[in-house]
Amino acid sequence: MEERKEWTLAEILEVHRKPLLELVYEAATVHRKHHNPNEVQISSLLSIKTGGCQEDCGYCPQAARYHTDIEENDLMSVEQVTTAANRAKVLGASRVCMGAAWRNVKDDEDFDQVIRLVQTVNSMDMEVCATLGMVTETQAKKLAEAGLYAYNHNLDTSEDYYKEVISTRGYEDRLETLSNVRKAKLTVCSGGIIGMGESVEDRCKMLLTLSQLDPQPESVPINALVAVEGTPMEDQEPVPIWDMVRMVATARIVMPKSTVRLSAGRLSMTKEGQALCFMAGAGSIFAGDKLLTTPNPATNEDLEMFEILGLQPTAPFAKGDRPQPEPLTEEERAKKENPKWSRPGHRIPAHVEYTKKGKLKKKAIQK
Ligand code: SF4
Repeated sequence: MEERKEWTLAEILEVHRKPLLELVYEAATVHRKHHNPNEVQISSLLSIKTGGCQEDCGYCPQAARYHTDIEENDLMSVEQVTTAANRAKVLGASRVCMGAAWRNVKDDEDFDQVIRLVQTVNSMDMEVCATLGMVTETQAKKLAEAGLYAYNHNLDTSEDYYKEVISTRGYEDRLETLSNVRKAKLTVCSGGIIGMGESVEDRCKMLLTLSQLDPQPESVPINALVAVEGTPMEDQEPVPIWDMVRMVATARIVMPKSTVRLSAGRLSMTKEGQALCFMAGAGSIFAGDKLLTTPNPATNEDLEMFEILGLQPTAPFAKGDRPQPEPLTEEERAKKENPKWSRPGHRIPAHVEYTKKGKLKKKAIQK
């Protein structure tokens, strides 16, 4: 089968609609060409600052306005992150992704602390990824200099459907952030979530946009929505495993060299379902009993699955693409930024309704 970069939406849809076993076979063939099919990377996702976010992402329990039952925490200390990263390393993780519930990075004390956290995990010889919201080029360079390996910023869905999911920021800012990450010579991690009410066309449009990034992202997480009570998406139906397999396989074919990551939603997948995803080209799982704030399979379950399937955890930096950042100039080092990213502010009825419910809940708690 021909491998190519310039995909059209019609071609991606055609791939996505193939008979499932044919699709998996083709994806597995591409996967074997570029990746070791017996290796799956174990990544650890650490919520270094949880909750209290000002954004209105319809799927997210960390959005302050919905008042879900998550436990909020302030930015973690170096000691806390060292302990968590050590534990993950012992269990086979070669990558630590640190997430903070922020709209964007600001050059303040918290960012200085994140820089220290990146330096700490980097010194443990693990790939360090961060997901901190929108980031400028200079901020991305500061992270790169600290030893960051990858920056995650998901497109979430298609540009069209994004307007139904978030009103507090624009799709173009996500693309600009990815471009800033690339300019800082970091590797790019960007994917999305399925099961938010989007169409198959939206899913494929998102893959098209990702495939058009030049170069394509090194890492593409595919999440299945975990519908959390209290969020506007609490009533969404669970994503069928077949949809996950199709999405993983299509991503694999469209972006042959990227590591496609099985991310949120694994708790509701059987081992058989996950095995089919690995066959279709998934090359990574997130391990640990929580994924930021939503439940995830227990670590021993994952180790048992690796044993059954004969999988080995991927070593850190196995791709040989460790970033080689250029040193910051004095001017860049001194720069203090808090840019005004866009805020479209359009009305999403479900968000209005759940913000009201959130306010009532907050009042009830305060009484
Ligand atoms: S997804 Fe991120 S930006 Fe959106 S509400 Fe949650 S923490 Fe905030």
